[in-house]
Amino acid sequence: MADPTIIAELAHNYRALIDENDMKWSVVDRGNYHGPVKPEIVSDPGRHVRTAEELLPGARSVIVVGYHYPFSNLLRAAEPPTDAVGPYSYAVYQANRWLRYLGVSIARQLQRTGYRAVVTEDLSDTGSLVANPRGPQPDALCNRFAAVAAGLGQIGLHGAVITPEYGLTQRFIAVVTDAALPTDAPILSDGPCFGCSRPCIASCPVAALGEQVLEITSDGFVTRFADWDRLRCDWAKRYGLVGAEGPQWGGQETNILPPESGKLQPEMLAQAYAQKDPIQKHFTMVLEPCLQACQRKLTFG
Ligand code: SF4
Repeated sequence: MADPTIIAELAHNYRALIDENDMKWSVVDRGNYHGPVKPEIVSDPGRHVRTAEELLPGARSVIVVGYHYPFSNLLRAAEPPTDAVGPYSYAVYQANRWLRYLGVSIARQLQRTGYRAVVTEDLSDTGSLVANPRGPQPDALCNRFAAVAAGLGQIGLHGAVITPEYGLTQRFIAVVTDAALPTDAPILSDGPCFGCSRPCIASCPVAALGEQVLEITSDGFVTRFADWDRLRCDWAKRYGLVGAEGPQWGGQETNILPPESGKLQPEMLAQAYAQKDPIQKHFTMVLEPCLQACQRKLTFG
């Protein structure tokens, strides 16, 4: 259970560190299921880093649920002899699917007892989507502020939540409600990143994670993460344009790296997206190498 005021404070502080314009556009494929990508740039001018109060006026508590998938799905992804990313991709889909059921069950129970409730896959809306053969899924950053405010884990330099029990191997759903529930406290101790050699940063094939560490706080609770280039990350993870991010293990030949420097513009992404493998495009599996590097570090040291 998280206190919405802590989530709001984290969101407010985060907002000051990023360019929110990066959240306000995306590229969608208007082509057929098979065949070339027909990119269209779509803008969402109202999108911004959000609070629980905006989702549900009068919000008093946020229930956050994590769903763990097997460690080996992430640890063994893309490893010989199978070189398979599919089991990990399926685990991500299935975890999110079950979380939606759980979120709706909790919201219905609250509503039956006279409270209001809203289910959200990303309360603060600071995460993104990750490509998946079953359709785009919420990425590992979704609901991170809600999860850490609920004391479930700590944010790693890659921006995803690391829990003491399961490391990176979970996803989260949040239910915002006007029921006044007893809330948990965030974890205050040094997180796993303290003293780590940072393999997460080196593992990113598009250098989306910078060396600079950003910090946000709420009432004595501090969370730190690497300077993250959302657009470069999405280039690899959401649009699946870089083989080493995962698609190469599914047989896709698309491998278009973003420019080494400079800010990515919608037209650059649309142009690259149009070159995506026209046959395999709907079957894009993504490994998220930063998460795998981190989980290996957490598991094997
Ligand atoms: S690999 Fe190390 S530095 Fe990176 S998120 Fe994991 S624990 Fe933190």
